[in-house]
Amino acid sequence: MLLIECPWCGPRAETEFSCGGEADIARPLDTEKLTDKEWGDYLFMRKNPRGVHREQWMHAQGCRRWFMAQRDTVSYEIQGYDTFERPLLALDGNEGQVQGQVQGGKTQ
Ligand SMILES: [Zn+2]
Repeated sequence: MLLIECPWCGPRAETEFSCGGEADIARPLDTEKLTDKEWGDYLFMRKNPRGVHREQWMHAQGCRRWFMAQRDTVSYEIQGYDTFERPLLALDGNEGQVQGQVQGGKTQ
């Protein structure tokens, strides 16, 4: 069982959460100008990497808040989490210490 740390409630079982898929996908501003391929890519195409990945999660059976987690898809280790109000936090509480973090939609 995967243990997920809700930023507000603390560590909880994976069964309490709903995964919202890949994080940091911005909706195109002018959808009328997109080709069918560009619109299809926005709707359906996801990275699905082997390794570090950012995902959206909702604590469905708890506080019902959304947050983002940076997780290694091979080891299932969650390396940090991010709310929509503050920058990425490592699990040890050091702000901005997670490798490969993404802020503002750009990889640093
Ligand atoms: Zn919670």
